[in-house]
Amino acid sequence: MAAIELVQGDITRQSVDAIVNAANSSLLGGGGVDGAIHRRGGPAILDECRKLRASLPHSRLRSSGGTPIGKGLPTGQAVATTAGELDARWVIHTVGPVYSQSEDRSDLLVSCYRESLRVADELGARTIAFPAISTGVYGWPIDDGARIAVETVRRATPTSVEEARFVLFDERSYAAFAGQLR
Ligand code: ADP
Repeated sequence: MAAIELVQGDITRQSVDAIVNAANSSLLGGGGVDGAIHRRGGPAILDECRKLRASLPHSRLRSSGGTPIGKGLPTGQAVATTAGELDARWVIHTVGPVYSQSEDRSDLLVSCYRESLRVADELGARTIAFPAISTGVYGWPIDDGARIAVETVRRATPTSVEEARFVLFDERSYAAFAGQLR
């Protein structure tokens, strides 16, 4: 198991080998942490995302409204690009599930953390920073999102990753993660 650290702050300010982005399946950028990463990381990240996207199949991807949105990274998966001007070697983009009250999508959120760690391991990253995936615009309740994040990273057995840092933007999220580590 990697050592788990908690930080309240901006993930784009972290010095780590890999920064995880809570992306959307288009990989073309969005709001929240995604927007912040592309803004501070510069255009090199989007360039690589575009190329990656072109090589992805037209899957059965649907927007939350059910409309097919074409090429994209399926929910729960992760891919790496350059980190551009960020103080990191890679950005690992993962697509979190939109929270649903009628359907349990926890396995997909577990998969985001697991797949990001797997990709980090493949790259040989020793330190990785995670945001609280899906807990912003995607609506996942923060306490449950924190529980899934901490349990999944605790149970993982990466070989190269020595430190997993959760970077929480606000006090409420930090408290939720701290509660899970207690
Ligand atoms: P999602 O669509 O997966 O919910 P969001 O970016 O909307 O992604 O939110 C995920 C989490 O990231 C939220 O807790 C949000 O407060 C947080 N967040 C937003 N900006 C940053 C940032 N610069 N650094 C770290 N966390 C951030």
